[in-house]
Amino acid sequence: MSERDPWPADWSVERLHGDHAQALRIETEFYDSATDHQRLRVFENPTFGRVMTLDGVVQVTEADNFIYHEMLTHVPILAHGAVARVLIVGGGDGGMAREVLKHRGVARVTMVEIDATVVEFCRSHLPGVSAGAFDDPRLELVIADGAGFMADGTDSYDVIIVDSTDPEGPGAVLFTDAFYADAKARLAPGGILVTQNGVPFLQGSELTGTMQAFRRLFADTTCYLATVPTYAGGPMAFGWGTDGPARGTDLATLQARFAETAITTDYYTPEVHLGAFALPPYVSRLIG
Ligand code: SAM
Repeated sequence: MSERDPWPADWSVERLHGDHAQALRIETEFYDSATDHQRLRVFENPTFGRVMTLDGVVQVTEADNFIYHEMLTHVPILAHGAVARVLIVGGGDGGMAREVLKHRGVARVTMVEIDATVVEFCRSHLPGVSAGAFDDPRLELVIADGAGFMADGTDSYDVIIVDSTDPEGPGAVLFTDAFYADAKARLAPGGILVTQNGVPFLQGSELTGTMQAFRRLFADTTCYLATVPTYAGGPMAFGWGTDGPARGTDLATLQARFAETAITTDYYTPEVHLGAFALPPYVSRLIG
């Protein structure tokens, strides 16, 4: 195949970014159809295992999802230290709920996912990602638009995790100032809002937009980084907003809290936690 040939049909080509593409070979295809909200595809790739894409963009793979899910859950939960109630917006594959529910101190996890088909499909075709989370009695699954849920609700949460698609299609409303203001109103005192904020090298303006909105809302605003192989383009940024002191939790305290959970991880450690907040200049310039 020459450089200019279009990709063969047995490759899934992601074109999230204008002049950059990521392609994954499809060894076996399990599903490719449109839900009420987006095009859902699940296939097997020899390196990454089962892969789910929404509107052609990689959402989760069996092989590397641990990095993303561990960093968006254990960082805010262990920094906070006394999390009882968590809200997940999006997260239809169940991986975020899987990691949150490993914390025995978490009494309740509410997950607001717009697309029931994503949940149903991931439960049957990607069961390793949710690993039983959907059957945990502490999980409350709500099928709704996260923006409307946030605006209309009255409950409060110690951690809110926005595990959404990118700001296109149904995910766009989850990157707005109004949504972030509604999320802040739903945080308990000392609560933390963390967000999937794309790959700064290719999606810098999204991160800048979120950080500008967070600065207007929170006393402590920043992002932290982790590299997920199939979120192509370099380290991924996770937005961080809180009025509490959680980011200042020291290493010894994080180590003690982590040890107490007895959770086994493949990416998160207290040292990685603190190091993730050390930003290279090209990222710190984006967050202002
Ligand atoms: N890890 C992925 C990433 O970083 O892009 C996100 C994976 S998760 C599957 C994304 C979920 O967000 C999808 O299940 C999608 O249906 C859901 N979603 C998108 N827009 C939403 C909205 N407005 N309200 C609730 N869920 C939404």
